[in-house]
Amino acid sequence: MAMEQVEIFDTTLRDGCQLEGVSVTVDDKLRIAEQLDLLGVTYIEGGWPGANPKDEEFFRRARSELKLDTSHLVAFGSTRRVKGKVDDDPTLRNLLEAGTSTVCIVGKSWDYHVTSALQTTLDEGVAMVADSVTYLAGHGRRVLLDAEHFFDGYKRNPEFSLRVLEAAAEHGATHLVLCDTNGGSLPFEVEAIVADVVAHFGADVVVGIHCHDDTGCAVANSMAAVRAGARQVQGCINGLGERTGNTNLTTVIPNLTLKMGYATLPEGRMERLTAVSHHIAELVNRPLDNQAPYVGSSAFAHKAGLHVSAIVRAKDAYEHIDPEAVGNGTRFVVSEMAGKSTIKIKADELGLAMDGAVINHVIDELKRLEHEGYHFEAADASLELLLRRATGWEQPFFTVESMRVITDELPSGAFTTEATVKVHVEGVRSVHVAEGNGPVNAIDSAMRAALRPRYPELDRVHLTDYKVRILDTSHGTGAITRVLIDATDGERTWSTIGVSENIIQASWQALADSIVFGLLHGGDVDRNETRPH
Ligand SMILES: [Zn+2]
Repeated sequence: MAMEQVEIFDTTLRDGCQLEGVSVTVDDKLRIAEQLDLLGVTYIEGGWPGANPKDEEFFRRARSELKLDTSHLVAFGSTRRVKGKVDDDPTLRNLLEAGTSTVCIVGKSWDYHVTSALQTTLDEGVAMVADSVTYLAGHGRRVLLDAEHFFDGYKRNPEFSLRVLEAAAEHGATHLVLCDTNGGSLPFEVEAIVADVVAHFGADVVVGIHCHDDTGCAVANSMAAVRAGARQVQGCINGLGERTGNTNLTTVIPNLTLKMGYATLPEGRMERLTAVSHHIAELVNRPLDNQAPYVGSSAFAHKAGLHVSAIVRAKDAYEHIDPEAVGNGTRFVVSEMAGKSTIKIKADELGLAMDGAVINHVIDELKRLEHEGYHFEAADASLELLLRRATGWEQPFFTVESMRVITDELPSGAFTTEATVKVHVEGVRSVHVAEGNGPVNAIDSAMRAALRPRYPELDRVHLTDYKVRILDTSHGTGAITRVLIDATDGERTWSTIGVSENIIQASWQALADSIVFGLLHGGDVDRNETRPH
């Protein structure tokens, strides 16, 4: 039997971009839309044409630059103005000019908002929805009504809220999207109210759900709505969105598919979820939470010591799904408590042949380094390089002859930093100087300048986080510094570590590991014979 379909409506480009601190360019928005199409969501809401020049440009460029295979692009707007006419309404005109097959218009479905915010009558509130839907549907658009404040309205005056939905459905809306705009609803309320609406409209329209996470229940509310008969779920990748965020699509999609048995994405696409989630986190410059369900780097990480061999024997006894289903993977976390079996499994994972003597050597080495202040649980990439070196491997990409960093304070009080590196790449020596807004940035820039000619793929790699921790404060400035660096190539993220009394040296260790790991796992596979497949 074919699985029943729940449409996925992504609003990362509209609601998601409302999150404070998120600012994307039109290019970013086009790249995000490509990722969403790659994932295969049913609808991509591109923004509000006419509300700002950026969204207008997005829809203009989308027409020629965006080739969508699976998704439909949607323009968002509102109903006509109070007492206005549809033919000379600028919002409705902009919606049509956006040139999308589908439009989503917000209409007020809480009586209090009609009388207080719009300061008009309830009849006029209903007419604004009816007229606008008629006009847009009459121009051949698929029209979704975004019923704003639906749940709050329904709790107080269900008759009016239903009148608004009826007006939309009778005049040609294909979808009635129930919005928990203030995000205050709970799953059992949502389930009961959606059930009422679905019973009222039967199979005439698709009922959708649009939740905000103000009670931490957006995903749960969306699933409750689907249980009650909703067949479209709206949300954002990585739970982006204003305040506490929208329904997290990267969580709700696997829940609906793997746990509830609905068809959401096209066949074979959910395996792209982790990569798309990381890629979009990059594009909006919001590092992904390691603990994000399904897609976070800790989602299937096991720190288990003795239990590790048991996990390998029966992975399904310790993992709620097969991580491959969402494009993630099992990860064994190695700490100073690691036993032989953990190291063995880690080595197998990397395709490294290690005998007992090498493993014992690695365990001694780990104990020594952890005592010095290293912390490999948080630095998987450095651990991988350490294991490779234990087998006699040496990174083949570059050798650094010397490095120097100078920081000056100018008479104006401004600081300038300059780094000089002397690097050998495949026998060729070069000297590069770069400025930076700090020593790590300057070294990073100088190294990139030195490596770019031979390794252009390094341009895809950049640092996303730089954390410094002083390990023993009793020594003041003589304390040990631990530096953790996160980097990404847009598809995967990795973490490296450096420890030293000198913050520049600690930073350099972490940075060098980060670059080596990026090159090791970059596009050119041939250079690295030990890479596992
Ligand atoms: Zn919203």
